[in-house]
Amino acid sequence: MYWDKKFETMSLDEMQAFQLKQLRQTVAWVYEKVPFYKNKLDDLGINPKDIKELNDLGKLPFSIKNDLRDNYPFGLCAVPMQDVVRVHASSGTTGKPITGPYTADDLDQWSNCMARNLYAAGVRSNDILQNSYGIGLFTGGLGFLQGAEKIGATLIPTSSGQTERQILIMQDFGTTVLGCTPSYALTIAEKGQQMGINFKNLRLRVGVFGAEPWTVEMRKEIEERLDIKAHEAYGLTELMGPGVAFDCQAQDGFLHINEDHILAEIIDPVTGEVLPQGTKGELVFTAIQRRAMPMLRYRTRDITMLQRGKCECGRTLIKMEKVYGRSDDMLIIGGVNIFPSQIESLLLDQKGIEPQYVIIVRKKGYLDSLEVNVEAKAEIYQAGEGKIKEVEQRIETHMRGVIGIGIKIRLVSPGTITRSEGKAMRVIDERKM
Ligand SMILES: [Zn+2]
Repeated sequence: MYWDKKFETMSLDEMQAFQLKQLRQTVAWVYEKVPFYKNKLDDLGINPKDIKELNDLGKLPFSIKNDLRDNYPFGLCAVPMQDVVRVHASSGTTGKPITGPYTADDLDQWSNCMARNLYAAGVRSNDILQNSYGIGLFTGGLGFLQGAEKIGATLIPTSSGQTERQILIMQDFGTTVLGCTPSYALTIAEKGQQMGINFKNLRLRVGVFGAEPWTVEMRKEIEERLDIKAHEAYGLTELMGPGVAFDCQAQDGFLHINEDHILAEIIDPVTGEVLPQGTKGELVFTAIQRRAMPMLRYRTRDITMLQRGKCECGRTLIKMEKVYGRSDDMLIIGGVNIFPSQIESLLLDQKGIEPQYVIIVRKKGYLDSLEVNVEAKAEIYQAGEGKIKEVEQRIETHMRGVIGIGIKIRLVSPGTITRSEGKAMRVIDERKM
């Protein structure tokens, strides 16, 4: 049932005592080893000894993505390079990447967190896991590999791309578990269909997907097309990689956080004030077991809420609501805030279209405008202009009703939107070009 029963089902008192001990050690560690943190704590007049209870976490300074960029590549590393056994990095759309160094023990902790994640999705030692995450600097590929190895599952490191070959391997090797981004899972499903594969006849039964925001509607779409149960792996390079949080069989829109490794808080993104459980705000993480790069109060830019209470799976680990978008991804159109995931969930509810779309943001004069190009189903496209217009107008009316602003819907011919082999490019913001 659990990979690590002790921590996954620990009582709140025990968990908090453990967290406090780890937090105190971590603060003392970074104060001694990383000048960046020492200076920040000194400026605030905080000594590591001042951390006496878990609530004292709120006294500590935040860290942000720019701190990682400013200290690139290893300014925040708390151990000498001879103790670092691996470095990962996030691609980063602008400027320098963000690095994540690990000691051997950090890697082992990460492997265990990933094993919890995969085990909760139902992965066991007799499973055959096809790892279609790109293997490289990106944490996804090796994170999945380590978790699968811990469990003792058979790992097939296909990496991403060459979709036709992926499907042949899946068929011939008897793959039971697929790991990749949700958008790539969709690409695999579509290619399989074109190859005449009936996924019901394959042994594939579970998918563990992550590294990009995806909606519940998208999960259902993938489950149906691949005939599997789809689960989630959530994480970020700054905090170890995937395995920070995961969903269990409850699939209630919340993910369990490995809170014995990562403390979570929700803050008001404007004032920085800590918000109570059940309130939406920005997610902040503190890594309390890592030694090469423990992060203090790292602002993730992800908007979510926390919830504590016994889950039907029996785990007591605190839960966070599934993340539907980073605050960086939020589009502001005519004063209205919209997450691309909101558009996705409305689109996927509609008939006559494929789940392949691109959102285009433009500036027309002084006004921002939103256009969504979405692929028509073949039969709609073939039915001609009248039918296409009808579907476009139906979706536009539906979107206006829910979001409150006009979004231009354009149905494009099937197969014309670029398929994802990793992280999908779903928004083109022409205002930034
Ligand atoms: Zn659960």
